[in-house]
Amino acid sequence: MASRLLKFSKIVSQPPAVREASARISDFEEISDAFIQEKAAEQASRCSQCGIPFCQSHCPLGNHIPDWLQLAAEGRTREAYEVSASTNPMPEVCGRVCPQDKLCEGNCVVEKAGFGTVTIGAVERWLTDTAVREGWVRPIAPERERPESVGIVGAGPAGMAAAERLRREGFKVTVYDRYDRAGGLMIYGIPNFKLDKSIPLRRHQALVEGGVEFRFGWELGRDGSVAGLRAEHDAVFLAIGAYAARRLELPGETNMKPLAALEFLTASNRKGLGDPVEGFEAGDLNARDKRVVVVGGGDTAMDCVRTAVRQGAKTVTCLYRRERETMPGSAREVKHAESEGVTFEWLSAPARLADGKIEIQPMKLDMSGGGRGRVLPDDGPVWSLEADMVIEALGFSPEDAAAMSGGASIHLTPRGTIEADPKTLQTGEPGVYAAGDLVRGPSLVVWALKDAITASDAIVRHFAEIKEPA
Ligand SMILES: Cc1cc2nc3c(=O)[nH]c(=O)nc-3n(C[C@H](O)[C@H](O)[C@H](O)COP(=O)(O)OP(=O)(O)OC[C@H]3O[C@@H](n4cnc5c(N)ncnc54)[C@H](O)[C@@H]3O)c2cc1C
Ligand code: SF4
Repeated sequence: MASRLLKFSKIVSQPPAVREASARISDFEEISDAFIQEKAAEQASRCSQCGIPFCQSHCPLGNHIPDWLQLAAEGRTREAYEVSASTNPMPEVCGRVCPQDKLCEGNCVVEKAGFGTVTIGAVERWLTDTAVREGWVRPIAPERERPESVGIVGAGPAGMAAAERLRREGFKVTVYDRYDRAGGLMIYGIPNFKLDKSIPLRRHQALVEGGVEFRFGWELGRDGSVAGLRAEHDAVFLAIGAYAARRLELPGETNMKPLAALEFLTASNRKGLGDPVEGFEAGDLNARDKRVVVVGGGDTAMDCVRTAVRQGAKTVTCLYRRERETMPGSAREVKHAESEGVTFEWLSAPARLADGKIEIQPMKLDMSGGGRGRVLPDDGPVWSLEADMVIEALGFSPEDAAAMSGGASIHLTPRGTIEADPKTLQTGEPGVYAAGDLVRGPSLVVWALKDAITASDAIVRHFAEIKEPA
């Protein structure tokens, strides 16, 4: 039989079609179409099956990418899905939101050789979407029940992935979250056009059906402490993310109050989920007919500009103090934003607010110290942009988890993240583990999943060492 692989020189790299910008800006639906079976198999067949797969070593989960690409190319879709799901707790999420250009696909040998990357993320997403459609996803049904319980705080990707892994092992799992829905930033941060809300909601449903208990509206620090939870559960897993937003406090005499990015995005996501949102109805959190300026250059800034476009903003401008090449956000997201009509002002920092406008200080880069360079004010004149809504997307750090400890030994790093043993993610308090943005600072879904695996496997090992249940 002729090989179904190594087709990279004959078949061009072709990700799923992206809807035209003019069509996609009028709704919040995902922007790319799904593969069909033939196309997914064809694109998977471009894999060169390298001896040392750099895609795999640059995937935080170490996914066995060449293996599932080979199975997909051979039409063995169910097996491909099983292999892909064996290392990734949420392949359909990662296939959609990982910055593949910086991770697996950016390090694909076929890409490096100039043939265009193998579309790894799109195949990964397609495999799980197909598995869900075909009913291949294994329900969470532990082979045996264990006597121990684990309390998980935070129902984001880290908390949900740990809940699934631990419940499959038979632990009693309770997930606490201050929100009213599971998903964390997958539900209230990342917009629907990048990740359809049905995906985290479906994962939540599967956890409930598998026996995981959820307590919503429960806030660590207000409704309980780490020490209190530790007394109630045999182990505690903290995954409360990073929600303290960096703010600018711009000078100026104006009634315009800049919004924090998550305030804006959460309101938009809630509207999409059908919730009443007072600030949105009143107009304060709605970009419709406004001249919107977003400050920042990461993925959160890209989500804000693209949400503002979809809400019907009059103009949308992104201010970034460095250049395009050194933006922290994914280049793919910047490209999407540009094609949707967003204007970028590089080397530009906000200086002052005035009625109906924002004044802008031109910046320059001093490269004498190397690296990404130091950003300094340039001598050029301060200029201004008309603005009715200013959104700050400048990054986050974790809220003070030590203050929620209730006497448990929770120590913070100078960055405000929780100190944890890198091998097990156990904190200074025995039996208390931490994961995701709370430990790393603002990061990626795929890293939160990786942490969930590390910490839940450490919990499983710990109890296996104490005693094997009958
Ligand atoms: C706007 C935006 C866009 C992003 N886009 C991408 C992207 O495209 N790709 C990507 O890979 N990553 C993206 N990220 C980053 C990614 O979402 C995070 O790295 C990831 O969600 C972290 O997972 P987590 O489980 O650690 O925390 P979170 O997802 O933040 O979940 C934490 C959970 O803890 C709960 N919680 C917080 N404090 C408390 C408390 N005191 N008590 C009880 N519950 C609490 C919260 O309600 C939340 O449900 C984005 C982030 C933002 C903000
Ligand atoms: S999890 Fe992310 S980095 Fe890993 S293969 Fe999937 S898309 Fe690539």
